[in-house]
Amino acid sequence: MLFTTQWLTTLFADYQGAAKEWIDIAEVATDTRKKFNHALFVPLAGENFDGHAYMKDAFDQGAAAALWDKQKDLPEFLPADFPVFLVEDTLAALQELAAAYREKVNPTVIGVTGSNGKTTTKDMTASVVGTTFKTHHTKGNLNNQIGVPLTILSMPPETEALVVEMGMNHFGEIETLTKIAKPDYAVITNIGESHIEYLGSREGIAKAKLEITSGMTKNSCLMIDGDERLLREMRHRDQVITCGFDPHNDVMIKKVTISRESTQFELSDGENYTIPLLGNHHALNAAFAITVASQLKVANDKVKQALVGLELTGMRFELISGQNGSSIINDAYNASPTSMKASINAVKQLEGFRQKVLVLGDVFELGVHAKPLHRSVADSIDDSVTAVLTLGEDAEEISSRVKQQYPAMDCRHFTSKNTLRTALEEYVTRETLILFKASRGMQFETLVHYVKDPS
Ligand code: ATP
Ligand code: MG
Repeated sequence: MLFTTQWLTTLFADYQGAAKEWIDIAEVATDTRKKFNHALFVPLAGENFDGHAYMKDAFDQGAAAALWDKQKDLPEFLPADFPVFLVEDTLAALQELAAAYREKVNPTVIGVTGSNGKTTTKDMTASVVGTTFKTHHTKGNLNNQIGVPLTILSMPPETEALVVEMGMNHFGEIETLTKIAKPDYAVITNIGESHIEYLGSREGIAKAKLEITSGMTKNSCLMIDGDERLLREMRHRDQVITCGFDPHNDVMIKKVTISRESTQFELSDGENYTIPLLGNHHALNAAFAITVASQLKVANDKVKQALVGLELTGMRFELISGQNGSSIINDAYNASPTSMKASINAVKQLEGFRQKVLVLGDVFELGVHAKPLHRSVADSIDDSVTAVLTLGEDAEEISSRVKQQYPAMDCRHFTSKNTLRTALEEYVTRETLILFKASRGMQFETLVHYVKDPS
């Protein structure tokens, strides 16, 4: 049980039905396609559908109460005693409810934002904190204006620690989310270029991420990527902990070694850690999780154990077997210029391969910055790479620039997946490592499917 309708009357004064009675609410639901029981149904109006049209479904499958837009007529079938809370705007009411429920349960809240690595850092943090505290965390990627309130409203009342991923496309969105979640600890994993189309510049992106501080109090603690120039002014503030590779960081990552199964590194406390994810960027994500855990006084051996045993989410830099003894890195889940560079750097650090091939596709949502940002990816490629094969309108910038710098390298651009696939065949051989990376919409998993070992 999350709360009662009686508690809801303290938040929403305009109600009807048996709201004042002690009716238990076990969950908050917005989607009648998912099964629910004893739920508070919150109809949301989207671009194509309006949840108010599904009240009958919600009622039939066990809604115990509902929020309702007071501008809309209530359906006639609803019994007179069904508790309905009339509000101006159901999304705003959902957010208000989440904020109040967060206060009611009052766990230690850890908010995670940043351009890349939010989900990974959130999952790592939930694993390490979960060794010691009753921990609830964002499922998957539910990180937006609806997902964050629903994450909060799905936390059991006995929750001690809540780890929330916060995403955004526009200014003001993180501010809304942080004022709901009120993080005691917040992490800004990095500043990249995602959504630069809406935010204008990397400076704009940094500003939008820093909105997270507006929901924090004097005692809250902010952890940031200390190597990021745009966050430099934050470095010396009270309650800010910097993590990164440069020596000036409060938590410095050193001695990184990347093998086929794991990344090992040392932190400035002299302790060594191992994570089953490959790349410097994941060492940074882990450093944030470790720092949160140490703030919460989680025993270090538990932290280490939790990190070694992390469950991985699919298509994020997964090293799998390819046909003919080749190896594949399936990173087809998504891409930004920063994450593409991070993956390329990890590929360069991986030892024991005769050839390394990069199969790179378009990164979307970069607006007028698309071409220069794609070209900037080329600067992370050196002659330890054997071939660069690209697909998509803007990715051509990568192969053509690398070709200028390394004329002997096999750099080719393709206009269809079929021709790219044929060209790739010569590289599907022993001791060859092939990276696949592009935006979600490029669906590079279909390419991975052709070359991966079917067994
Ligand atoms: P989304 O915006 O889709 O929610 P996210 O911020 O949650 O993304 P993840 O899903 O954790 O990010 O990681 C996505 C990809 O970003 C990874 O596959 C990896 O390539 C890259 N990545 C992860 N962490 C970092 C980091 N700290 N710096 C740069 N790139 C990173
Ligand atoms: Mg995410």
